[in-house]
Amino acid sequence: MEKVIDVQHLKKSFGQHEVLKDIDFSVNKGEVVCIIGSSGSGKSTLLRCINLLEKPTAGEIIYNGENVLDSKHDIFKYRSKLGMVFQQFNLFNNLDVLHNCTVGPVKILKKSQQEAEKIAMGYLEQVGMGKFINAKPDQLSGGQKQRVAIARALTMEPDALLFDEPTSALDPEMVGEVLKVMKDLANSGLTMIVVTHEMEFAREVSDRVIFMDQGVILEQGAPEEIFYHPKEDRTKQFLERYL
Ligand code: ADP
Ligand code: MG
Repeated sequence: MEKVIDVQHLKKSFGQHEVLKDIDFSVNKGEVVCIIGSSGSGKSTLLRCINLLEKPTAGEIIYNGENVLDSKHDIFKYRSKLGMVFQQFNLFNNLDVLHNCTVGPVKILKKSQQEAEKIAMGYLEQVGMGKFINAKPDQLSGGQKQRVAIARALTMEPDALLFDEPTSALDPEMVGEVLKVMKDLANSGLTMIVVTHEMEFAREVSDRVIFMDQGVILEQGAPEEIFYHPKEDRTKQFLERYL
């Protein structure tokens, strides 16, 4: 199996507080990994360390056979290959939908505006937002904004997409449309790491589920194992809240 990202002995502290404690984590090409766990267990910090929005305190992140934490490594290029979708969308509110999706390809991938628009249109159609290219983010519902954010991430042709609770800020009636887009992406073979509290999604869509607890990966396995035969008491207690 080809590993897209391989994290070894990753640690992250904020001051005296060790938030990630010796995390080993890898994701294979085409794999969908869901990360579950209580609030404060370090899920967001792990994602943010993986794409270097936070600097790990120790450990290695191997990508294409190289440790991206080596000072020689081109961090900018690495980060452009990992798309990130946030709970709060993080769209550019001054730009319309189309231009939200062309900034990256033009500025970072050096595409022409025309070419970038063509690429953006393709992904906006794919997430069902092709009719909204002239709208500004504040004219859209939360579900629509998140679908634009996903299209925007895809325009960078990422090797993997990282999602941090992409449906947690949405009104309940909009969760489904975003999960549907994510499910289609998973089925298309995209490599995905998804932090989520949507247990049904995790069970149905993921190849592997990781349970994080107090800064460690307490257990991981196929969704059937984690959801129906969890080994650890903490995992059982956590999952009971969702039954
Ligand atoms: P989760 O996403 O699982 O809810 P987080 O990764 O957001 O957990 O947070 C894990 C712990 O790290 C929490 O105790 C949180 O307060 C702490 N933490 C996260 N980011 C920072 C930061 N920038 N500075 C200090 N502490 C932080
Ligand atoms: Mg979080």
